Amino acid sequence: MMFRADLHCHTTCSDGTFMPADLMAKAADIGLSGLSYTDHDTISAYTPEIFDVARKNSIKLLTGTELSTLHRETCIHVLGYAFPLPNPILEEVCQERILRRFERSRKIFELLARNGMRKGLEEYVSGAIKITGRPLIARILIEHGYVETVREAFNRYLADGMPCYCRMGGLSTQQAIDAIHKAGGKAVLAQPHLIRPRKVSKSLMSMNFDGIEGYYARFPLTAEQEWLDIANEKGWIVTGGSDFHGDDKPNNILGSSWVREKAFSFFYEHFITRSELF
Ligand code: AMP
Ligand code: FE
Ligand code: ZN
Repeated sequence: MMFRADLHCHTTCSDGTFMPADLMAKAADIGLSGLSYTDHDTISAYTPEIFDVARKNSIKLLTGTELSTLHRETCIHVLGYAFPLPNPILEEVCQERILRRFERSRKIFELLARNGMRKGLEEYVSGAIKITGRPLIARILIEHGYVETVREAFNRYLADGMPCYCRMGGLSTQQAIDAIHKAGGKAVLAQPHLIRPRKVSKSLMSMNFDGIEGYYARFPLTAEQEWLDIANEKGWIVTGGSDFHGDDKPNNILGSSWVREKAFSFFYEHFITRSELF
């Protein structure tokens, strides 16, 4: 069977709907040979137990995370891969990010309250119940009958520029790259096709990434070629993944983008030769 590794997916450790072990089983089911969980601002999926699950499913599990950063006022996602375990440096970075996320969620709930959505949400508004990300907020709004779908929650309230949007500051793109390198990992620019304005994505091309996510979800080849050319010129690794989140983002199908063994091994060898778990 051809080797395929999906290097971008989310579990319940951030805003996905599948638990890490269930996502592993699904990956095995569809014939993937390699996987990396890239949860937002956390590496908590990487327990010793999940590596046992991976072995049982004959899947090579590569360490990963997706850090939310800011560059020129634009939110940029930076993927970190192949960092060794255990990893106190990344743990600390993630801990700081999660506190920022709690704080931002509290502000979003305040904005929702000001827009008439307070009933049933008091504990979220006060910050007594802590929430890490917007898709989770969207699910709470559905639960309380304020919207019907995650899409509606984003379109009406939560998407960038909407009345209850709140940006998350704190970590610049360069700081994220530096932190990933210091932690012994590889830094990859996520979903370059989606970065607007274009002059921001152009300016990112002169930064010290190790790779770029040239294959993302189901983007057409014409959208990918530009990034493949840049990677070629810079000697960057081209990565790929589906950005699978489970039921909330039905268009991001697990395995819809992937990398072959050569690109995967470059990261995987880096990871296993430096980790104490192996
Ligand atoms: P956050 O990290 O809390 O800012 O939330 C970002 C996540 O929200 C992304 O990873 C997407 O999964 C999801 N998201 C962003 N925009 C939308 C949208 N318009 N509809 C549904 N999900 C979205
Ligand atoms: Fe997400
Ligand atoms: Zn993602």
